[in-house]
Amino acid sequence: MVEKQEVARIDEFEITICSRCNFVRVGNRWVESSIEKVVEDFVLKNAWVSEEFDVSEVVISKDYCIFKGDIAGDEVEVVVPLKYRINKVLCERCSREAGGYYESIVQIRADGRELSDEEIEKALEIVDEVISNAPEDQKAFVSKIERKKEGVNVFFGSRNIGKKVSRMILRKFGGSLKESKKLHTRIDGRDVYRFTYSVRLPEYREGDIVEKDGRFVVVRNSVVGKGSDIITGKTVNLGDEGVAVRREELKGGVVVNADSEAVEVVCEDGRVVTTPRPSGADIGAEVKVFEKDGKFFSVYEGSQSSEK
Ligand SMILES: [Zn+2]
Repeated sequence: MVEKQEVARIDEFEITICSRCNFVRVGNRWVESSIEKVVEDFVLKNAWVSEEFDVSEVVISKDYCIFKGDIAGDEVEVVVPLKYRINKVLCERCSREAGGYYESIVQIRADGRELSDEEIEKALEIVDEVISNAPEDQKAFVSKIERKKEGVNVFFGSRNIGKKVSRMILRKFGGSLKESKKLHTRIDGRDVYRFTYSVRLPEYREGDIVEKDGRFVVVRNSVVGKGSDIITGKTVNLGDEGVAVRREELKGGVVVNADSEAVEVVCEDGRVVTTPRPSGADIGAEVKVFEKDGKFFSVYEGSQSSEK
């Protein structure tokens, strides 16, 4: 029983959505939402209901809205058609992204070597993580990724995102970070800069051999820069030392003879060599052998690897 007199009304309205990412404009912001949700919010906020209509339930669909309740003791159900227009535009973020806009570049390199595919993959995972954690940042996007022989350059719509990504990469891989800026343009008399965050991963990785103060050190943790002296076993703090022997160049072997100073090792290629006694290695220990300046050395990886 619907009365002639109007008891509920919803004015015509407009919904603006981005044709590229489907975000919906709510007030001055772009949010991840659905048309249904935005319609519902609009109706609940803007529907007009006459004073004598005591509404107990509202059902909102895409095309109409039903108000259920009572008017002066009579049960009433009023159907109000919804009239709205969907406006498709590009949101700020997408128009910037489409235009190649960027405020910062994160350059990822390693000292003295190329980045490994694994390092690149992990760095790009960090990029994804930082961006998906900033869904409402209009500048949180990647405008371009350049893969170079020596590393990767990632261009970001936002300076802050670039900064955050570079710090997280540094925390994950160790190394060093340098920030620089270049004047890009002037807007309303204000200088606008583009920022470059240059992350350099250490040359060494876990298991590589580094020479420090005339002693050989096996890298245990490349992120925090820790290694152990192969002979004394003492922990050594590393800086930006280069690699003396890559872990791939080490050869396997087994200790067959040992005294306090030296061990005899049978290498996987059958050669028998004598090296200074590596920390922790007894007869039967599996070691890694390398040759440097005509002398042989061996590294004992510790109990973890010999148990395997
Ligand atoms: Zn968009």
